[in-house]
Amino acid sequence: MTAQIRDSSEAKAHLATYERLDGVSASELMQTVQFGGLTYNDFLLLPGHIDFPASQVSLETPITKRISLKTPFMSSPMDTVTETEMAIAMALLGGIGVIHNNCTADEQAEMVRKVKMFENGFITEPVVLSPQHRVSDIKAIKAEFGFCGIPVTDTGKLRGRLIGIVTARDIQFLEDDTVTLDQVMTTDLVTAKAGVTLEEANHILRNSKKGKLPIVDEQGCLVSLLARSDLLKNQSYPLASKSVTSKQLLVAAAIGTRLDDRQRLEKLVAAGLDVVVLDSSQGDSVFQIEILQHIKATYGDRLQVIAGNVVTREQAASLIAAGADGIRVGMGSGSICITQEVMAVGRPQGTAVYQVAEFASQFGVPVVADGGISNVGHIAKALALGASAVMMGGLLAGTTESPGEYFYHEGKRLKKYRGMGSIDAMENNTKSSDSGSKARYYSESDTIKVAQGVTGAVLDKGSIRKFLPYLHLGLQHSLQDMGVSTVQALHEGVAQGKVRFEKRSPAAQLEGGVHSLHQYEKRLFA
Ligand code: IMP
Repeated sequence: MTAQIRDSSEAKAHLATYERLDGVSASELMQTVQFGGLTYNDFLLLPGHIDFPASQVSLETPITKRISLKTPFMSSPMDTVTETEMAIAMALLGGIGVIHNNCTADEQAEMVRKVKMFENGFITEPVVLSPQHRVSDIKAIKAEFGFCGIPVTDTGKLRGRLIGIVTARDIQFLEDDTVTLDQVMTTDLVTAKAGVTLEEANHILRNSKKGKLPIVDEQGCLVSLLARSDLLKNQSYPLASKSVTSKQLLVAAAIGTRLDDRQRLEKLVAAGLDVVVLDSSQGDSVFQIEILQHIKATYGDRLQVIAGNVVTREQAASLIAAGADGIRVGMGSGSICITQEVMAVGRPQGTAVYQVAEFASQFGVPVVADGGISNVGHIAKALALGASAVMMGGLLAGTTESPGEYFYHEGKRLKKYRGMGSIDAMENNTKSSDSGSKARYYSESDTIKVAQGVTGAVLDKGSIRKFLPYLHLGLQHSLQDMGVSTVQALHEGVAQGKVRFEKRSPAAQLEGGVHSLHQYEKRLFA
C-alpha cells in the first residue's frame, strides 16, 4: 500500500516506521565479504543530514593515548618522504612527520633536533662566519644563496658569542676581498633575546630599520636570526602540532627492533622526540614486544609509542598487551609495496583497519591507517572504518618538502619515491650498519636481499603548504556530507550503525569515476 504523505514531518514519521535504515552498518558491510577483505575502493558511505557548515568540521584526533593533533595526517618514515623539512611542515600544518631511520642514529637525531628547534619565522640555522673570515667569503655566500647580512660570532658558528654583522653596505665599495670581517663588520647591533615572540621580533625589526635581527641568549650567544625580507612571508599556523609545555613542534621518528635501536632511541629522546614508531612490516614479534616493554619501562608515558604494523586483531592484542600507545595498521597496501605478492601475507586495507580499530578502541588505543591512501576519499574512508589518523607515503612524496631533487622524464617534473624494502633503499644504507631499511625487511644472516618494495617516481605536487590544506578542506567537506562534524562523532555514528555504508560493484566503481569523456583534465585544487 502506498503511504499518503502530505508534509515533511509526515515523511519523517513514515521513515521512522521502517524497520531498518537505508544502506548497511560498517559491521554488516564487513560481513558482506565473510571470506574476503575490502579495500577503500570497494565501498562508499551514504550521505547523512547536514546542519552545519563544512568550516565547522573539526578534524582533531588522537594518534596515541596521550597525543592529539588538529588534523589526522602523518607522513611515512621513508627516506623519500620524511626528513627535517617535511616534519616541520607537517607539524606546522597540524599533522606530524615520522622521520625515517635509513641513516645513522646521529643523523636521525640531528633531524629530530632541528624540528624541535624550529621556530616559525626565525632562521634557526643561519649562515654564520668568524671575524677571521674574509670579504671573499661573504661574496661567495651572496653568489650561492643570494643574500648577505651574515652574523659574525667568535667561533664562526651558531651558538658562538655574537660580535658583529656584515651587511651588503659594509662591503659595497671594498675592492680588496682579502680584508678580514673584523675590519668591516658592524658592531653596533640591535638584537632580541631568545624567547621573544615572532610578533615582538617583527616589531623590533621594523623599528630598527635593519635588514636582520639576531636573536641571542642570556650570554649573548647567537641562537637564531630574523630577516626583514621574510617579514611578509611569516604566516601563522593555527593548527600547528605543538607540545603543550615547551610549545615546540611535535615530531615522531621510526626505529627498528634490534638491540642497537635502544641506543638509537636514547639519542632521539635526547634530541626531544615525542613519538617513536616501531617500524616492522610484521609487528607481532617477540622482538617488537621486548623493545616495546623496554621503552615503556624506561621512558613511561613521556615517550609515546606507536607499534606495528599489524592487520589482525590477534596481532594488535599482542602489542596492546605489551603497552602500545597507538597501533599502525597496514601490510601490503602501500603504493610501492610488493609484500603481498612476494610473501603471500597481508590484508586488504579497509578490512584490516576496521578489524584492528574495532578491537583497539575497546582499550582506548588509537589506530593509524598506513598505506594505500591515494586521495581525500581514502582518508575519509579510513577514518570511517575506525582509524584515528592516516599515514601517507606516496601522496606526500613529490612535494617540495620531500627529500630529493626533481627531474624531468618525458616532459613531466618528477621526484623519486621508493619503498623502504626496495633493493635500492636497502643498498643505500650499506655505509652505516645501524640504519633501518635493511633491518625492517632483511635479516643479516640472509645472503640474498628479497625485495618487498619497488623504486619509482611521482609527479611534482608543489608545496605541502598548499597540498595539506587541500586535504584538510576536502576532508571537512567529506565529513559534512556524511552529516558528522567531528572525527569522534564519525566513530560514534559508525559504532552505533547510524553512519551507513554500501558496497560498490566493479560497475559502480566505474560509474563513480570520471567516464564517457573523450578527454579531460583533472585539477584537484586551485
Ligand atoms: P603509500 O602511502 O601507499 O605510498 O604507502 C606508504 C607505506 O608503505 C609506508 O608508511 C610503509 O608502511 C609502507 N612501506 C614503505 N616501504 C615499503 C616497502 O618497501 N614495502 C612494503 N611496504 C612499504
